[in-house]
Amino acid sequence: MANQIILVTGAAGFLGSHLCDALLAEGHTVIGVDNFSTGSSVNLEHLSSESKFRFLSHDITHSFDPGRIDYVFNFASPASPVDYTRLGVETLRVGSAGTFNTLEIARKYNAGYLHASTSECYGDPEVHPQVETYWGNVNPIGPRSVYDEAKRFSEAAVMAFHRYYGVNTHLVRIFNTYGPRLQANDGRVVSNFMIQALRGESLTIYGDGSQTRSFCFVSDLIDGILRLSRSSEHLPVNIGNPDEYTILECAKEILAVTGSRSEIVHKPLPPDDPARRRPDITRARTLLGWEPKVSLREGLSRSLEYFRSSIVSHVSV
Ligand code: NAD
Ligand code: UDP
Repeated sequence: MANQIILVTGAAGFLGSHLCDALLAEGHTVIGVDNFSTGSSVNLEHLSSESKFRFLSHDITHSFDPGRIDYVFNFASPASPVDYTRLGVETLRVGSAGTFNTLEIARKYNAGYLHASTSECYGDPEVHPQVETYWGNVNPIGPRSVYDEAKRFSEAAVMAFHRYYGVNTHLVRIFNTYGPRLQANDGRVVSNFMIQALRGESLTIYGDGSQTRSFCFVSDLIDGILRLSRSSEHLPVNIGNPDEYTILECAKEILAVTGSRSEIVHKPLPPDDPARRRPDITRARTLLGWEPKVSLREGLSRSLEYFRSSIVSHVSV
């Protein structure tokens, strides 16, 4: 297992950069690919003198050949609602052409493949908590469709390469994940609230704040993903923390952790914003022996320093 050559797309992003760190720490050689559409070179700065890390500046919607590799982690895609709304067509392209191109690389080199899918495949779910066998409730033409349908198409492509070509594929459905290197200005709830709280600005709750999310700390997620990548499971597996919070509760946790006295204000709820989201992690527990360990309070505390330092360098959210 050790000393594989591993391709990570989306390497300059939040999750991709943590994945590169974890793989390098295990002794693998990592080729990171990114076009910096939403990621940042700052996330990879600490690897500049790492001899086992190589970086390729490339848009994966154009085919490429990194040379012989043993494994592909396909994480490239805008991920926050603000980013994928701004980059709608690019998001559809990376989730279609980009997924095909990376699957072709895995097929050519007989490599393993893991695709970063999402809880958004369930849309605004009628089944709660969400089990992997639920097919979802997705608006195929709404503002979130550029992301949701790209991810659902990617899942179909991954399953097809497994079924028709025998590629050793894996699909992780990631639920809301946060931690250091979450882009401070990407509009996601944890980054917005942390920055607002630290600046003493009002926390912007969209709608009445009764919608729920279940927040996973990045180290737990990476552990689950590595386990899945080494398993023999080819069907989708949810990885997320099943502790469910309303967005109002999340705001209060962030006020408590930051010690901020910011007010809470309400803004309009974006269209098709899912009312609730919580993973059923029975499959991850039984197939991978995986369980999240970090509570929201602890994970927010571990992220505090990062957000403190990023308010110096980032523009207003
Ligand atoms: P991110 O925006 O920080 O990282 C995505 C990276 O992909 C960026 O560095 C971006 O520049 C790169 N990228 C985008 N299009 C590209 C292209 N065409 N070619 C090359 N690189 C490209 O987001 P993240 O939170 O790290 O998400 C990583 C992956 O995990 C995404 O696929 C996302 O859909 C998935 N995911 C994340 C979450 C979460 O809570 N963070 C939840 C569900 C799924
Ligand atoms: N949200 C909010 N205020 C913000 C940012 C987000 O109330 O400043 C809400 C958003 O409407 C959604 C939830 O927080 O209900 C999570 O949003 P996020 O953009 O993090 O990701 P999503 O889970 O919707 O993909």
